[in-house]
Amino acid sequence: MSAFKYEKDADGIVTVTMDMTGPVNAMNEEYRSAMAQTVDRLEQEEGLTGVVFASAKKVFFAGGDLHELLAVQKGDEGAFLDMLRATKGVLRRIEKLPVPVVAAINGAALGGGFEICLVCNHRIAWDNKSVQIGLPEVGLGLLPGGGGIVRMVSMLGLEKALPYLLEGKKVAPAAALEEGMVDELVDSVDALVPRAKAWILAHRDDETAAVQPWDRKGFRIPGGDVNSPKIAQLIPVATAMLSQKTRGLLPAPAQILDCAVEAARLDLDTALEIESRGLTYLVTTPEAKNMISTFFFGMNRVNGGASRPQGVERTATRKVGVLGAGMMGQGIAYVSAMAGIEVVLKDISLEAAEKGKAYSEKLLARRVEKGRMSDAQKADILGMILPTDRDADLQGCDLIVEAVFENMALKHDITRATEGFLAEGGVWGSNTSSLPITRLAEASARPENFIGIHFFSPVDKMPLVEIICGEKTSDATLARAFDYARQIGKTPIVVNDSLGFFTSRTFGTYLDEGVRLLSEGAHPVQIDSMGRAIGMPVGPLAVYDEVSLELTRKAQETWEQMGVLDQFGDQSITRSVVNTLVGEHGRGGRHHGGGFYEYSADGSKAIWPGLYELYYKPEYRVSEQDMKDRLLFRQVIESLKCLESGVLRSVDDGNIGSIMGIGAPVWTGGFIQFVNTYGPARFVARCNELAEQYGERFLPPQIAIDKAAAGELFT
Ligand code: NAD
Repeated sequence: MSAFKYEKDADGIVTVTMDMTGPVNAMNEEYRSAMAQTVDRLEQEEGLTGVVFASAKKVFFAGGDLHELLAVQKGDEGAFLDMLRATKGVLRRIEKLPVPVVAAINGAALGGGFEICLVCNHRIAWDNKSVQIGLPEVGLGLLPGGGGIVRMVSMLGLEKALPYLLEGKKVAPAAALEEGMVDELVDSVDALVPRAKAWILAHRDDETAAVQPWDRKGFRIPGGDVNSPKIAQLIPVATAMLSQKTRGLLPAPAQILDCAVEAARLDLDTALEIESRGLTYLVTTPEAKNMISTFFFGMNRVNGGASRPQGVERTATRKVGVLGAGMMGQGIAYVSAMAGIEVVLKDISLEAAEKGKAYSEKLLARRVEKGRMSDAQKADILGMILPTDRDADLQGCDLIVEAVFENMALKHDITRATEGFLAEGGVWGSNTSSLPITRLAEASARPENFIGIHFFSPVDKMPLVEIICGEKTSDATLARAFDYARQIGKTPIVVNDSLGFFTSRTFGTYLDEGVRLLSEGAHPVQIDSMGRAIGMPVGPLAVYDEVSLELTRKAQETWEQMGVLDQFGDQSITRSVVNTLVGEHGRGGRHHGGGFYEYSADGSKAIWPGLYELYYKPEYRVSEQDMKDRLLFRQVIESLKCLESGVLRSVDDGNIGSIMGIGAPVWTGGFIQFVNTYGPARFVARCNELAEQYGERFLPPQIAIDKAAAGELFT
């Protein structure tokens, strides 16, 4: 039985319903054979008047088969290109059928799914939020190689097509209609095929209805081809903007821009061939392998609950208590209420708690202003948050998350004072960023119900939650915290208790290495530009100012009291620089009036001149490659140490956590995946080189040496 159902009706219209093996339709061998057979048959069909492409799945068509794409290795390019040409040849034959072809889009049509729609003469979509349209390949280091670039440029013009191609922008049906990516919407899914057939019948005598715009005589690309003055000006600007954005680290957007420009210059078939070559080049790059591995497969496993204890029933949090309505607490209250959870927001005074609630009001008002929410919805969500200064209001919470000041004694006090208000089996979560969960849990009468739920700032924007298990945390508690994180739409990684957990500990090495370069005499501007050159969002000194040097000073004091100072390596250089800056020069960071940088009222910043006097040595010489590797390898090595010592429970958590919580460069696919495509043996060798030259902090962790020796990758 074919994966495509083929039904001809009395009017001569054939409906092809794609229903492949497995949960989704995807472009793999089964697709290629089914589509080729279908097109053979359509070309020979007697009395054919039109064709409708429909789907039997919830998703119209999911796109390329990522398992297949991940498996393509260097050396396979010839076969891959042949396969691509054949696939596109079949799509081109659909376009050349002498009858109108209509796509009946009942679910997401992304990537290859939308490319099938693009060869149809008419596209009708169900106006429902499950339907999304776009070409997101760039986010996986690839390009839309099934004709997506060429046809989008031909259909919308270069300028309008570029954001969809370069940013992978996805749109809902209404926006797709406005852009001209679909032609019609219907209100019910059952109306799709009848409407498609009606359109075919209505255009029975219209010869142009069966001919794509680009196959008509005298066709011109909307907005002009590359010779038009406007487009000729656009190209260098787009190129410059792109290289500023990607810093030359991502090959896919550059390839996409090249192909899109060629599509605006050449005839369709030649442009399609260039597009195929572009994808053939990209598919074997380490960047594509990293991005597919982490952003698709890793992300699915993490969000799918690979780190959640199996066999524990799913729970829903109905009432959450948030203690402390400061920067973090107010954000936690907002995201919880947005997910329909009742929130008790408690601070030391009612006024402080109300101020925390006002934050939600501000964010919701913005949504109403943008037309993304009604006034009534806003009122409902605000009604979910009860600001209070009374512990008793916490009665019956399934979960309490504390976000009070970072102080062990205070956190112990509030645990004792309020955990009794939890509902039976309720869970206590601390949002601490640096205090060990096991120590915090000592104040609890039920340490098995105690867990770390570490949010990132700003809570409403940052997608990650780092869940930390203390020594006594039970599986049921972990499952409940995990389910809560999913309920509020966050991606949870699960780690074991350790100083700085995973994210802060690893991120700390980036700051430390930046400060070491400074103290050695490197130019501060160069240090930060090397951080950005590896793809970190901000240089180490600039981000240190944001995090605050003052905070490091306080944390170091706390660690000293706890007897854990320098537990994970010598931090004396950072300590000395921070003490000099904060202690002697009053430079605690951006929110303390300035740190490594000076900040002007107009928002600009410049290196604080005192830094040159204190540290800069004009004769300092370290190659750019070494600087970049030092900043990157410190974080990779620390991540591996976390994996080796069991702080990280899985490679996926390490990759997703580093990308979403630390800002690891996307081209790496996360700090552990980086080693896979760099090559474990090469990685070990480079670590040894760096260690010899710059110190033992670069020595390769045993886990990397073992992988290299076994010829294995981190999975
Ligand atoms: P904040 O100073 O903005 O807010 C703390 C709030 O707690 C204040 O409103 C204070 O009035 C309130 N509070 C103090 N004692 C209280 C009590 N007994 N009962 C109720 N409320 C009380 O601090 P923040 O930045 O929101 O940080 C809170 C916690 O989150 C800290 O543990 C911090 O380490 C952690 N954290 C902060 C960040 C960040 O980026 N700021 C990120 C992750 C985690």
